[in-house]
Amino acid sequence: MTKKIFGILSILIVVFMVIVFFFPDTNKKKEAEPIPAKTETTSSQTTKKVDKDLPNVSRSDWQLVLVNHDHLIMEEPKTLTTMKNGYQIDQRIYDAYYEMEEAAAKAGFSLTVISSYRSVADQQAVFDADVTKYLTSGLTEKEAETKAEEYVTHPGGSEHHTGLAVDVVDQVWYDQGNGLEEGFFETEAGKWIDQNCAKYGFIIRYPKNKEGLTGINYEPWHLRYVGKESANYMVTHQLVLEEYLDVLKEAGR
Ligand SMILES: [Zn+2]
Repeated sequence: MTKKIFGILSILIVVFMVIVFFFPDTNKKKEAEPIPAKTETTSSQTTKKVDKDLPNVSRSDWQLVLVNHDHLIMEEPKTLTTMKNGYQIDQRIYDAYYEMEEAAAKAGFSLTVISSYRSVADQQAVFDADVTKYLTSGLTEKEAETKAEEYVTHPGGSEHHTGLAVDVVDQVWYDQGNGLEEGFFETEAGKWIDQNCAKYGFIIRYPKNKEGLTGINYEPWHLRYVGKESANYMVTHQLVLEEYLDVLKEAGR
């Protein structure tokens, strides 16, 4: 009798061990029950990482195209239109620009566009002219090119190729014989542009202290259209386009 019970017990133990050994999943699932709660915490933490204010835009949107020394553009835009001064810009930003110009006029500033769309061939000419200028001042060819690259981008590397960028100053400043100079920021018109351009979808594309990221020196006159939502977000968070696109990428946009 005792032998029989012992035999049955042994069989039960063996069967139990076989179940534990061959079906560890069944076992794991039981142990793993608290995990869904953990997963939820993790996913809500991930959601928290994406700022709720981040505009619902995509990196592939036309107004977010990235053009810099690492992202050359050789394609000419097919959506150009002529501005009131005869210059060309992308027709999709025409109204936004004139809304800004009108608002500036109401504030007492007469904005004037010095440069807008520029073809790759024209950019080559601008670049070459700048190199020549530095060569004349006594620099070697290599030095002259390096110096030119500080302000004038390589052909294909200028945002002006897109028709989404405008160089804007105030007519008074311009009439005084000034052009695209950093001192423009010190003027009341320059300050107005800095504080208001985002309302119309524009950003100062090359801000101060971000030269390392943009590869371009501070240019208070170079405005780039990115759309109102993105412009406001970038200004609030002090992001340049390169940084903003990284934020969008992280958010899976
Ligand atoms: Zn420019």
